[in-house]
Amino acid sequence: MTVSIRDLLNPHILSLEPYQPGKPVEELERELGITGSIKVASNENAWGPSPAALVALRRALDDANRYPDGACFALRDRLARERGVDPEQLVFGCGADELLELLAKCFLAPGDEVVYAWPSFAMYPIVVQGNGGTPVPVPLGADLVHDLPAMANAVGPLTKLVIVCNPNNPTGTSVGAEAFDRFARALPESVVLVVDEAYAEYARRPDFPDALAWIGRRPGTVVLRTFSKLYGLAGLRIGYGIADPELASYLQRARHPFNVNRLAEVAALAALDDGEHVEKTLRGNAEGIEYLTRELGALGIEVWPSDANFLLARTGAAVYEKLLRDGVIVRPLHGFGMPDHVRITVGLPEENERVVKALRRIREASA
Ligand SMILES: *Cc1c(COP(=O)(O)O)cnc(C)c1O
Repeated sequence: MTVSIRDLLNPHILSLEPYQPGKPVEELERELGITGSIKVASNENAWGPSPAALVALRRALDDANRYPDGACFALRDRLARERGVDPEQLVFGCGADELLELLAKCFLAPGDEVVYAWPSFAMYPIVVQGNGGTPVPVPLGADLVHDLPAMANAVGPLTKLVIVCNPNNPTGTSVGAEAFDRFARALPESVVLVVDEAYAEYARRPDFPDALAWIGRRPGTVVLRTFSKLYGLAGLRIGYGIADPELASYLQRARHPFNVNRLAEVAALAALDDGEHVEKTLRGNAEGIEYLTRELGALGIEVWPSDANFLLARTGAAVYEKLLRDGVIVRPLHGFGMPDHVRITVGLPEENERVVKALRRIREASA
């Protein structure tokens, strides 16, 4: 008799559905034998990393033999001032993804439930299930916005965490202060509220919620941010959580000592000071959202109002595959039960034009 490794495995790992990243440009070009493709599939910053971060990175390479500062002292100090919080309220991670993982590790016991909206960030069910928790997805409401009253109703005695993704990925929709505040006020203290603000810097609605203010009102609140999107450092992997000092100390206890690498730390610090790059990104993004909304609308493609750096578009079935053949990689959403929709990341102006041209050709071919 031989032992099956499968039988040794934790059952919740066996049932995990792996995360599907955007298709790499190299893979598409190899498969189709084409060149000059573009990828607008992963909500990356089309304007690149901050030039100031690049300068700092080159200098930091010489110290690659040294372990990073595990406490992220300089970055912590700078960011605390930027966000108006105490340094001990910050916890850094290998992307905001690691903060989700740390929250699950700290708070979930087998069978504990995590309430979140769906469709939303694909990592939520993976992190929850991977830590033995039970995902409780709550369908988005009208206009594909978080249905906060339904999420409140889904909270029960087994609920440990509730995640609000604002603005929401992959829809780009957001909830306003009034709805959010009402939800946060009514949430039982026995539940940790996680507000995933990976795209908050892009939000343009004047009544965007002040989630940070809730840390003072209910200590079981954590706000997540990342350097992957606005700051253009997705490849270096750095994000952070902001929480009450006590909660933050537990996340600190659970993390590995050198979870943020030296280069990420150095680049994040430089990127924070590069207001010009931030400005350029926000301006280019706003123009791109406006352009894509107008042009897709003219093609009769429904798009949702976006507070992020991407757009949800109802292009019709099989358009993801047709765009691939045209060398344009967007994010398909059939994994979310939305086979007629794709998510399009805002690119440089010429990339946005390329997306529109390809969609126009597809429309004309099927007319
Ligand atoms: C991109 C993203 C993150 C985190 O990304 P990291 O690269 O791990 O920092 C978190 N939440 C949402 C909704 C995202 O889209």
